[in-house]
Amino acid sequence: MTGLKPIIVPKNSNYLAVFLSLSCNMKCSYCINYFEEGNFPKQRISGADWVKGLNRIVSRDDVPLTLQGGEPSLHPDFIYIINNIKEDLQIDILTNLKFDVDRFIKEVDPDRLNRNAPYANIRVSYHPEQMDLDQLIPTALKMQDAGFRVGVYGVLHPTQTELVNKALKRCRELGIDFRPKEFLGHYNGNTYGTFLYPGAIDKKFEKECLCRTTELIIGPSGDVYRCHHDLYENFPPIGHILDPEFQMEDTFQICKVYGHCNPCDIKIKTNRLQQYGHTSVEINFP
Ligand code: SF4
Ligand code: SF4
Repeated sequence: MTGLKPIIVPKNSNYLAVFLSLSCNMKCSYCINYFEEGNFPKQRISGADWVKGLNRIVSRDDVPLTLQGGEPSLHPDFIYIINNIKEDLQIDILTNLKFDVDRFIKEVDPDRLNRNAPYANIRVSYHPEQMDLDQLIPTALKMQDAGFRVGVYGVLHPTQTELVNKALKRCRELGIDFRPKEFLGHYNGNTYGTFLYPGAIDKKFEKECLCRTTELIIGPSGDVYRCHHDLYENFPPIGHILDPEFQMEDTFQICKVYGHCNPCDIKIKTNRLQQYGHTSVEINFP
């Protein structure tokens, strides 16, 4: 491992987010990457560097690496990365499935993406304003027939609830695991989502707090961030995946921008064991 210390995932950690690319081949109007300005980093490290950095991680079977974006398949070494992550790390993928699935099926072993979890390892987001269900369904079925576990998730944006519910019915009839997903954020003056800390995402004030995360957030440049807000707004990172000394720390850190949190960090959701009531971060006020 050439002088890079193993990164031990703390007991408390729940999620390892690997943002291979924050670029996307779609443009959803409610994309959470643009919750504020979307000033996120555009540079990417190579597949070889990703493999070097990720293979330092020592995790547990129920805390996989989740390859995501943007659209993770836009990384030119997407398949190389999947095929070279060490066997004892589990892999999940969040994608819009707009990639060359024939090549994927040919080059990736479905057993590599088949951990035992109460949800599919390849989770596809369905966005009716940008995607054609008549194309998505055969693609998802093709992946399933090839042995991959694929689930489709539809965001219940207030303007698209009906379309998502129709897609849910159609997909389930065809044997595709379709799950509705709560819309997070603001629309027409209303806030959507269930959040533990009132006002945290409202962007109306900035307050100092102490914040502790249960997640590892690695951006496309290999930089590690405290939270999704810091990633999307390009705040100073707390480390780099290729820094030989980098370690995950299960500690509270000072944050001065409480009030501008990203919904992903503050939302009440299910944890990796599908238990409801979890939030990614814990916040205290001095
Ligand atoms: S597919 Fe996801 S990442 Fe891409 S624009 Fe839509 S919401 Fe954003
Ligand atoms: S308080 Fe909000 S913005 Fe600050 S570190 Fe925590 S989640 Fe991120």
